[in-house]
This record gives sequence, structure tokens and C-alpha cells, in this order.
Amino acid sequence: MLIDGKAIAAEVRSEVADGARQFERAHGRPLGLRVVLLGDNPASQSYVRAKKKAAAEVGIDAETLLHPASMSQDDLLALLGELNADPAVDGILVQLPLPDGIDEAAIIHAIDPAKDVDGFHPENVGKLVLGEDTLEPCTPAGIVEVLRRSGVETSGAHAVVVGRSNIVGKPMASLLLRRGLDCTVTVCHSRTRDLAEITRQADILVAAIGRAEFVTADMVREGATVIDVGINRVEDLTRERGYRLVGDVDFEAVREKAAAITPVPGGVGPMTIAMLLHNTLRAAERRAA
Ligand code: NDP
Repeated sequence: MLIDGKAIAAEVRSEVADGARQFERAHGRPLGLRVVLLGDNPASQSYVRAKKKAAAEVGIDAETLLHPASMSQDDLLALLGELNADPAVDGILVQLPLPDGIDEAAIIHAIDPAKDVDGFHPENVGKLVLGEDTLEPCTPAGIVEVLRRSGVETSGAHAVVVGRSNIVGKPMASLLLRRGLDCTVTVCHSRTRDLAEITRQADILVAAIGRAEFVTADMVREGATVIDVGINRVEDLTRERGYRLVGDVDFEAVREKAAAITPVPGGVGPMTIAMLLHNTLRAAERRAA
């Protein structure tokens, strides 16, 4: 089965649009999202554009605050202070990576946890690990929605997560371990010995590595569910822009073995954005409550 991340994301977005309308009726103002971008990294610019467009489509008042890469850390902290204090702002997202010279951790710490729609603030990360209700990081939360809405059995399943980043691998492992999902979780990384041996044991394999088509068919068990988080540009001179996007999974070969697989593009990517909108609604509802 090809998991249609686009279709599932459209479902989530339409639910958020309903919630956003209700919120506006109840509170007399739209949901507010502010996306802060420093510098002109082309990938970041395109992510930020996509986030703003998707937010506007569900009725969120979304604004991108563009600043030069030379913005000082103090000025960025001051800006976050203003956004934290603004009652019309429900969600704040600082697009990563930040330019050299800015302490990413200090910036993440400075976002009000109640407005931290990326779910990266240590308070939210702590709650996630404790299994408490919180704003969850968008990519792993989106993967959970994909599994749920595709009817993938998670209870007792062996989930193998390849990648241990703070934005994908680690929170993914925490979510899969949670009561209700109840996976047995193994986390792998660049130092893992006999990686293929471990990935072959996965009922659910999440690839969040950042290496084009790294997961080959021999690394996948027949009948596994394969979630491909990777977004990698590979040169393709037949395309006008000179590249195409591929995942961390050798899609054509692995789809022959997998019971279910997410494509790239059109899998996890659209879910990440949908969950950002979902988190903006949740942040607003929680603050209003
Ligand atoms: P990071 O670079 O932060 O982490 C990559 C992880 O993969 C690390 O833990 C690293 O191990 C591990 N790794 C690298 N090489 C190997 C290897 N040979 N064998 C096993 N593990 C390896 O990346 P992110 O987690 O931020 O992102 C991963 C991918 O997902 C990227 O392609 C990114 O673009 C994409 N992404 C997609 C999103 C979406 O919405 N679809 C959102 C976020 C990311 P170690 O820790 O030992 O270095």
C-alpha cells in the first residue's frame, strides 16, 4: 500500500480549518502564527513559504518575519519577547538552522513553551518523554497520525527508528513508546553495529537519516511499514531546477517488499506542515482554556 501523506494531510488541515473557524467565532480573532526566518537559505525559504501558505489556507493569520542573517542574538531574543507577550500570537516558530553565531538552544529556550508550535522547548520535550499532554514536534507527530489513519497496528510492534536527532529520531522514539501506541522501540544511528540486521527486524521502520536512498530492499523485512522522513536533493538535469527530491529509502525496490510505504515527496513532508497548523490550533485552545 502506498501511504498517501498528501491526502491524510488534507484531512488534518480540513479539521484544523473547522477548529480555526470555531476559535475565531468564540474569541473574535483568528489564530495567529509567526514564523521567524533569518537569512536566505533557499531550503528554509521554501519551507517557510509552504508553511505560511498552508496556514493562510486554513484561516490562520500567519506572518513571516524575515530578518538578515546578520541579526544579533540579542535582537532575536527581543523579537521573541515581543511575540511571547502578544496575546494575538498563538504560535511562534523560528526556522532552523540558524546562522552561525546564534546559539540555537538559547533561542529555543526563549520561546514561550505555550506558543512553541515546533515542540522543541525543553519543557515540551520533557512532557513528551513523560507521556504528558503537550505540543509535540511536528514531524514525528505527523508520522503518528499517518500510522493511525492508515490503520497500521502499533501495539507490540517492533519499531526501528534510524536517526537520533532532536527534531525527528528522539521524539519519534518517545511517541512510539507511549501508552496507546505501545511499540517496542529500537533507535539506530551512525555508530550502530549491524544496522541492516536490526532494520530487518522492524515491523515499522522509520528512516530519518538524511542520506539519499540509504535504506535498500535487503534492509527491510517483507510486510513491514516503511516511513521515509528523508528529503534529499539529488542532481537531475532532466528537471528544470536541476535536481529532484528523494527520500532516505530506495523507494522503487523497497515498495516491492513493504506492506505500506510513504513516498517522497508526498509522504511525511505534507504531514509535518499539517501538524504545525494543528499545533497552532491546540496552542490557542490551551491558552484560551
Ligand atoms: P540529522 O542530520 O540531525 O540526523 C541524522 C541522523 O541519522 C543522525 O542521528 C545520524 O547519526 C543518523 N545517521 C547518519 N548516517 C547514518 C548511517 N550511515 N547509518 C545510521 N544512521 C545514520 O537529520 P534530521 O533528523 O534533522 O533529518 C533527517 C532527514 O529527514 C533529513 O533528510 C531531513 O531533510 C529530513 N527531514 C524531513 C522532514 C519532513 O518534514 N519530511 C522534517 C525534518 C527532517 P549520528 O547521530 O550518529 O550522527
